[in-house]
Amino acid sequence: MDKLIQGVAAGGTIRVLAAITTGVLEEAIRRHQTSPTVSAAFGRVLTGTLLLGATFKDFDRLTVKIESDGPVGNIVAETTGNGSVRGYVRNPDAELPPADNGKFNVKGVIGDGTFYVIRESGFDMGFHKEPYVGSVPIVSGEIAEDFAYYLVKSEQIPSAVLLGVLLRGTEPFVAASGGVLVQMLPGANEHIITMIEDTIRHAPHLTSVIKEGATPEDLLRLALGEIDFEILEETQVEFRCNCSMEKAVSLIGSLGNVEVASMLTEDKGATMTCGFCNETYGLTEEDLQAILEEGNLGY
Ligand code: ZN
Repeated sequence: MDKLIQGVAAGGTIRVLAAITTGVLEEAIRRHQTSPTVSAAFGRVLTGTLLLGATFKDFDRLTVKIESDGPVGNIVAETTGNGSVRGYVRNPDAELPPADNGKFNVKGVIGDGTFYVIRESGFDMGFHKEPYVGSVPIVSGEIAEDFAYYLVKSEQIPSAVLLGVLLRGTEPFVAASGGVLVQMLPGANEHIITMIEDTIRHAPHLTSVIKEGATPEDLLRLALGEIDFEILEETQVEFRCNCSMEKAVSLIGSLGNVEVASMLTEDKGATMTCGFCNETYGLTEEDLQAILEEGNLGY
């Protein structure tokens, strides 16, 4: 079962988070049919978004958007902070040969561009507050480094980020997916930061331990070495979209009566595919007729 944990270490001066997202990525691949290299990139973005989202309390929706000029185009992931994440990529079929080290060429498939984090809040209360938008150039393209760079540059939080994806050729395609986020809070000891960086540098690959059944706690132990930590929160995580037939009907209705009437007479129905999860909703002639009859009341 996929899980995210967060806690503190070193007397509360370090915030630590870890997540296993093997099932999250499996579902994302199932829905978007992404190529292996795009799956590796997508998995890292989905995991990074869950970890980053868990460090903020004051938002309704946090979106990480990678606008890239590489073959994948854009990658978007969105979390509502309760352990759910959804997302999509512009070009799911993009693929490149492996990098020189035999690993997925994530850097190549991403290319250059901009890394955005958008935090929106106030929906529930009916406010439309200006979203908070932070952005940095893509410095690495390997994703984990880009999350770390964003946190340091845009949020002024020195951070270490590890994100890993291990795939196999047959279903289930994801052998392991997960990540660790360590953030230095004000007052963090320089010496401890160096220790953690050193531990991470010498630690085994995240994905090899996840594949062997590691828990998020094990991942933190791996990243923190001898440093004690305390877990404060634990959340189940999953790829989950909030689209529905009701929303599809509402969106079709919002196109206006002329458009709906033309769907009815010319197409004898309508289909809507959710960009975030690829779910398709089919509206029958009766559905469209109902929209025309009731339409203007609700909108
Ligand atoms: Zn959806």
